[in-house]
Amino acid sequence: MEANFPLSLFSLKQEVFENVLQKTPFGFSLISEDYVLEYANDAWLDILEKKREEVVGKKIFDVFPENEKQLLCVFENVKKTGEPFTAPEHGVKLMRNGVLQEAFFSFVYHPIYNDEGVFQYFATVVLEIAELVNIKNKVKEDEERLRLATESSHTATWDLNLKTHEIVHSTYLSEIFGYQPDEEISHQQLRGHLSESDRINIVEKAFERALKTGIYQYEARITDKNGIEKWVFTNGKVFFDDDHQPIRMLGVMQDITERKKSEILLKQSHHQLNTAMEATKLGRFDMNPETLEKYNFSPRFLEIFGYDSETETIDSKILEKHIHRNFIEVRADALRKAKETGDLYYQTKIVLRDKSVKWIELYGRLLPPAEGSKAYISGTARDITELKNFEEKISESEKKYRFLADAMPQIVWIGEPDGKLTYFNKSTLDYSGKDYNDFVEGNGWLEIVHPDEQKENVRLWAKSVRTKKPFFFEHRFRNKMNEYRWFMSRAYPELDEFGNVTKWVGTSTDIDDMKKQEMQKNDFIKMANHELKTPVTTIKGYVQLLKKMRGESEDKFLVNSLNTIENQVNKLNVLIGDLLDISRIESGKLPLNKREFSLLKLVTETIEDIKASEQSHQINFELMHPHDIEVYADKDRITQVLNNLLTNAIKYSPHSKTINVELFIEDHCAVVSVEDFGIGMDKNELRKIFERFYRVSGDDEETFPGFGIGLFIVKDIMDRHDGKIWVESEKNKGSKFYFSLPVYQIQK
Ligand code: ADP
Repeated sequence: MEANFPLSLFSLKQEVFENVLQKTPFGFSLISEDYVLEYANDAWLDILEKKREEVVGKKIFDVFPENEKQLLCVFENVKKTGEPFTAPEHGVKLMRNGVLQEAFFSFVYHPIYNDEGVFQYFATVVLEIAELVNIKNKVKEDEERLRLATESSHTATWDLNLKTHEIVHSTYLSEIFGYQPDEEISHQQLRGHLSESDRINIVEKAFERALKTGIYQYEARITDKNGIEKWVFTNGKVFFDDDHQPIRMLGVMQDITERKKSEILLKQSHHQLNTAMEATKLGRFDMNPETLEKYNFSPRFLEIFGYDSETETIDSKILEKHIHRNFIEVRADALRKAKETGDLYYQTKIVLRDKSVKWIELYGRLLPPAEGSKAYISGTARDITELKNFEEKISESEKKYRFLADAMPQIVWIGEPDGKLTYFNKSTLDYSGKDYNDFVEGNGWLEIVHPDEQKENVRLWAKSVRTKKPFFFEHRFRNKMNEYRWFMSRAYPELDEFGNVTKWVGTSTDIDDMKKQEMQKNDFIKMANHELKTPVTTIKGYVQLLKKMRGESEDKFLVNSLNTIENQVNKLNVLIGDLLDISRIESGKLPLNKREFSLLKLVTETIEDIKASEQSHQINFELMHPHDIEVYADKDRITQVLNNLLTNAIKYSPHSKTINVELFIEDHCAVVSVEDFGIGMDKNELRKIFERFYRVSGDDEETFPGFGIGLFIVKDIMDRHDGKIWVESEKNKGSKFYFSLPVYQIQK
């Protein structure tokens, strides 16, 4: 530069030179080798506030005596090195308006040589930098403003020297890391708060990237000084020097814990949603409610439409392409409704590319426009082909069963779990001559039940519904000719896996003929009973008379014969009574004549009576209770029960002589037990002996005559007294029968 310096001052025309220099905005002066100020322009004089005549021709040190040392040093240096000297922002103490002031100037001292390279002048260029200082101050203000802005937006700032690793940061950064706002934290300390894995995997990688790209960005977890876990976000910029070496990094940092938390929650719920969708095999889609264009499909959505989600894509008009033509209206309807209600729902058939047909179910919700997004329908699609096929099969098989049910002569009906009857087959209508609706509405069916059975019918049905136990009832139904016929109705509950009733299925079978025959039989028994009783009673009377007259007779044969006749007549009497009882039990007309009486007395008297006619066995009686026990029952019937147990005990223990009878109290009940040591029974038999006409079959059958009705009657009598009868027995060891009655009163 110096070599080309064009100035040979005095070769320029004086005026031109003067003019140019006078007008420049910077101060310019020429100082000779011996430091005499030879020229100064107006700007120079203005800046230094001197008058021309005060300075021109004077030694510079005389003009600025307070700077002599400093100036001398500069001039000598410039002369020696031949290099210009720039002193930016030089503070110069100046007398201005009589006051010594510090002013800031940018000074350039330039050596000027002649053509031969001989030093001639120092040129000084001066620029007062009050302006610059203002600018700097302004920058500082801006910085302060920026600082305030960043702090109030919860943004910390930092400035890292990449050579020394010194860091300068705002107070808010200290707060993020859990320090006091005025605490300085070293770069090292800051790094120490990063979670180990994030430091390695995120921060260090971001740092390396920043050195290459100039941009430093990451989100990472820290544990602050108080042990609180936080998420921070940093955004920084790297500054490089002329040699492209990174020297400085400037950036901001934010605490993003809250955002991260909600992001994680959102992710989790997304994940959960996806898992649920995966599990339910739901395909997802979004749809523009106006154009009906679909977007954001899940892979499953594609699969439902028969596309390979990995290799194929579908377009937004997928449904238009695949919907079965019979369902176009259904879909249009559903879409119309969705606009009104916000809910989209329909089922449709679709035809796949291979022409196979599938059923799908679409469900969607119209979501109102939110920030940045328009209203859209978020929906799911489900393949329900199997379900539909299954439903079809079910309805087909239901049709089949209905047909069957209708073809049956029996009355068939179906009820809800709560007992309401919802289906009746054709036979019901044919029999009753009524309408289907007469039956399913209200209690229509009850109208055809005979008034005598209605109450019991309702009671038993309610009981079955309550207990979930099968329903059995014999009742009369009125037919279309207004005649009643007997029906046997049965209903069974259909239970689900939890034991809840799903429905009741019932049938009513016409048993009128059977019932009539049975009635005839019962009438016959009643009549026969009556007809038999008269002669038997007469025989019994005469035997007793004969015994009275000839009882003391020497003729042993006569006495034995009379006793035998009396015994057999008594047995015949019991049998006739049993037969009558059976027919009464069956028609539910076994009368009970209840009153209170002493059970102790009943037991002892019955035993005495038996003893009188049966001397074969020793009957022991023991009262296990300190006092007499009163019961409220039909005395004759309870005598009948005990009699039956005692005669059985005698009959079925031919080889043993002992029978034990006990009377005691257990669980507030009076219990009578009759124990024998005879043939006994095994377990299978025990369960059946209280059934009608049941007799234990075996080799001994013939040895033990009987009808198999005694215990059946006994059981019925006990049931109707709210009493109980049970037995313990072992084959070839003996049996012990018990019966119990509620205690009426215990005598003290
Ligand atoms: P039955 O007229 O045959 O005695 P029951 O109804 O009184 O009729 O008894 C039914 C069956 O129970 C009998 O056939 C018999 O097999 C059995 N049974 C009753 N009591 C006894 C007993 N004490 N020991 C053994 N078996 C008995």
